[in-house]
Amino acid sequence: MPLVSMRQLLDEAAKGGYGVGAFNVNNMEQIQAIMEAARETKSPAIVQASRGARSYTNDRFLYHLMLAAAELYPEIPMVLHQDHGNSPATCKSAIEMGFTSVMMDGSLMADGKTPSTFEYNVQATREVVEMAHEKGITVEGELGTLGGIEDGHGAGVDPLSHLTDPDQAVEFVGRTGIDALAVAIGTSHGAYKFSKKPTGQTLVMERIIEIHKKLPHTHLVMHGSSSVPQELQDIINKYGGKMRQTYGVPIEEIQLGIRNGVRKINVDTDNRMAMTGAIRKVFFEKPEAFDPRDYMKPAREAMKEVVKARMIAFGQAGHAGDYTPLSLEEVARRYKAGGAAR
Ligand SMILES: [Zn+2]
Repeated sequence: MPLVSMRQLLDEAAKGGYGVGAFNVNNMEQIQAIMEAARETKSPAIVQASRGARSYTNDRFLYHLMLAAAELYPEIPMVLHQDHGNSPATCKSAIEMGFTSVMMDGSLMADGKTPSTFEYNVQATREVVEMAHEKGITVEGELGTLGGIEDGHGAGVDPLSHLTDPDQAVEFVGRTGIDALAVAIGTSHGAYKFSKKPTGQTLVMERIIEIHKKLPHTHLVMHGSSSVPQELQDIINKYGGKMRQTYGVPIEEIQLGIRNGVRKINVDTDNRMAMTGAIRKVFFEKPEAFDPRDYMKPAREAMKEVVKARMIAFGQAGHAGDYTPLSLEEVARRYKAGGAAR
């Protein structure tokens, strides 16, 4: 099965009332972990690469690993998505390389740090939509700013003032024609999201419910949605790591989001932690070992288990065979005819 349209994957998820995890990759083992988890749970799969991942793999390694995945897992509808494209040029290069979905993050300027204006965001995102839809490629936009790596605001600024505004979201989606909208609801990237279990004050799920009511046909995306499980922190620290106590986004909050229009959930940190914990354990218990496979195999296995658990929790398990993927040409034709693939 060739790589497919993310729009179709998310439309199907909306029909079925489930969410789809989007997992970041940088190497072969991570791609294998996701594909094995998808096979074992019969799930559609979104594999995503940041700009950092594209530069780490020099693009061509990533592309050919994805082709291998498509060849080896023909029963899995699979999307290759550009995570946090910082400019129309980045999105263009992703599309040219064979990505079937791109995120144009115009909430920040091209430096990926400085918050942009609403008008800049509309204009840059619209430009990407025009270029992408012509080829049947899906576009995710972002409105509002997340914390963590997206926190260009300095200390002391009220983080809640950067949440996505529901009325502005309606205008943004109308003017850009995006397929999916990343919303800022108080999450951040990385492991250190919350210093205690999040409350409705720090993780504002209410905002998603409000946005979904105003935009019932736009697929919502939750970024920074690792759950940072205690057991993964404990494994890392037990075997010589030094992570300080932290809290992620509870699975039940994500499930609440899924009941309210969230169709794509970005998870990266949990997988990184699972791999690192497994590697530390081997190093600690078998200091005599030196074959990289001795630790890469358990690392891959540990990531697969996390991905499987998320696929089951998000509800995508069992849905890989529900539909026949459309060709990108067909998706492009539908965009042209009615503006939408659904
Ligand atoms: Zn993100």
